[in-house]
Amino acid sequence: MAPSPLPGRLTVITGPSGVGKGTLVARLQQRHPALWLSVSATTRAPRAGEIDGQHYVFLSRPEFERRVAEGRFLEWAAFAGHLYGTPRGPVEAHLAQGQPVLLEIELEGARQVRQTFPSAFQLLIKPPSFAELERRIRGRGTDAEEAIRRRLDRARVELEAEAEFDAVLVNADLEAAVVELERLVGLGPSPAGS
Ligand code: ADP
Ligand code: 5GP
Repeated sequence: MAPSPLPGRLTVITGPSGVGKGTLVARLQQRHPALWLSVSATTRAPRAGEIDGQHYVFLSRPEFERRVAEGRFLEWAAFAGHLYGTPRGPVEAHLAQGQPVLLEIELEGARQVRQTFPSAFQLLIKPPSFAELERRIRGRGTDAEEAIRRRLDRARVELEAEAEFDAVLVNADLEAAVVELERLVGLGPSPAGS
């Protein structure tokens, strides 16, 4: 059967760990509750405060691999020693209903989505400087030293891929970045202007 174009807009947000993607997306969702954020699956252990099914679906590696074999991920990739993937079904269902969908994924996943959804809007979030990125990732206080080191190594690769993206947003001042993000993903200012 020929694939039919899916209504609804797909936006991919990528950027180094600690740049503020989660913070920005949470702010955006507060302002636009209709915006649907895909919940990824991962083999990494939950951080303090993370809820299964809400922040991530936490899976064992065999279970994750079984789902890969069954074609249940839209994209998936290894990052800092763990596997991460976007469950296919919910994304396709939301797009088919014409709802805006957001994926917050790393570089390899973004590249896969570029192949499967060439019309997706791809946005790279950058820190004001590498030193500030390191300060944020350490300040967050959720990762062990080895995990921080792997994330910072990967950050250099992700930032070098800037030219692949449709737009780049520097997350310096948080409030200004939220407004710019809102504009870039095509949601415009919220009616309440809040
Ligand atoms: P990511 O989801 O990209 O890994 P987080 O959203 O967890 O990053 O943010 C990492 C840390 O940086 C958090 O402690 C967050 O509060 C902080 N942060 C996010 N945006 C800014 C900003 N614009 N200025 C200063 N700190 C920020
Ligand atoms: P963290 O462990 O800090 O939550 O996430 C590490 C990295 O994995 C981040 O860059 C995040 O964007 C990315 N990530 C989260 N979910 C997915 C996913 O479903 N697919 C891919 N490819 N990357 C993901």
